[in-house]
Amino acid sequence: MPRIALFGSTGSIGTNCLDVVRHHRERFDVVALSAHSRSTELAEQCREFGPKWAVLCDENQRADLARDAFDPTELRFGADVLEEIAASPEVDTVVSAIVGAAGLRSTWAAIEAGKRVALANKETMVVAGPLVTELARTSGAEIIPVDSEHSAIFQAMQSGAPTEVRRVVLTASGGPFRGRSRAELEAVTPEQALDHPTWDMGPKITIDSATMTNKALELIEAKWLFDLRDDQIEIIVHPQSIVHSFVEFVDGSVLAQLSPPDMRLPIQYALTFPDRCEATARQMDWRTAFSLEFEPPDEEAFPALAIGREVAAQGGTSGAVFNAANEAAVERFLAGELKFTDISRACRAVLDAHDFDPDPALADLLRVDQWSRTEVMKWTS
Ligand code: NAD
Ligand code: MG
Repeated sequence: MPRIALFGSTGSIGTNCLDVVRHHRERFDVVALSAHSRSTELAEQCREFGPKWAVLCDENQRADLARDAFDPTELRFGADVLEEIAASPEVDTVVSAIVGAAGLRSTWAAIEAGKRVALANKETMVVAGPLVTELARTSGAEIIPVDSEHSAIFQAMQSGAPTEVRRVVLTASGGPFRGRSRAELEAVTPEQALDHPTWDMGPKITIDSATMTNKALELIEAKWLFDLRDDQIEIIVHPQSIVHSFVEFVDGSVLAQLSPPDMRLPIQYALTFPDRCEATARQMDWRTAFSLEFEPPDEEAFPALAIGREVAAQGGTSGAVFNAANEAAVERFLAGELKFTDISRACRAVLDAHDFDPDPALADLLRVDQWSRTEVMKWTS
């Protein structure tokens, strides 16, 4: 029975993960849960799943909390505790479901300690992909993707050797603004951008889907996770979000993974791999007619895609700069300070201004992350 630490348990991935556990109580043991600041929800989760530890990363909560609401779970505070728990001999699998670069350190600690990491936090791979995969190689950690596209690729890749892969094709829903021109995107509001047609996700990744930055981040994630060349990754728009990606092999055979858009499947697979168990997620209905559409993305309306390709090709500090710039720009867009189309503009401006280092260490990446956020906070269109 894998002993699971779930970081980011109150989020969209976190609650879906707990639903998987709820359906398979006999298979998984939850030993740690963490949230940023939603203490009431975290306490409720503790009552249901009875972990040994609960962590609130926001230290400000410390003063005014009724700790007995968590009994018998031990309530702890601060992000540093996550690193300690990630490396604990009482943990086998870490589910990395914190949003943004805030998830990097705890994910790093889990990989350093040689754990299985069910990786939802794609930002870790965008910021530090080459360092992370090298760390996993030396520690023996297993990184199993939770991102649905990467889970699909990972599943399809089980049928061939890495050297037999010709290319991977990432599918993209196209988000709420598929079909709109660049000019039409200028005036869209946070409310419109938060209304995703196929997936129900946290606010940051929902905005990333609307700008298609999510696909740019996923392209970078795929490159480092599967050790691909830049010319081996294609992007195709597929509005139904049923085919989660394709892998094309050297003999011309193309394998896809299909399922309704429901994150409980890739989460469950990352926990049970190489086994499978009864579905928690919704399943395909083969008795009702349906069709699947595919179309090339509109690179002009969504400049984030070109930025993603450039950043993937450059490597070095570019991923950390791009990711942090995007996080800060999304925050400013949601606060009403930037236009929707400014998000990519700000990312481009900060990438162009940055002092590129081709071979950074982790500390350098954390430093440029901070620099990039500060630049975006000052940026005006
Ligand atoms: P969310 O906003 O719903 O949840 C984020 C979680 O992280 C919450 O539990 C929150 O308390 C915690 N958190 C936020 N900031 C934190 C901080 N500074 N320190 C510690 N904890 C913090 O986000 P989500 O949609 O669940 O996404 C989580 C991650 O999974 C992201 O990296 C996202 O890109 C990735 N992902 C999500 C989906 C999805 O369907 N939601 C799909 C693929 C990948
Ligand atoms: Mg995805």
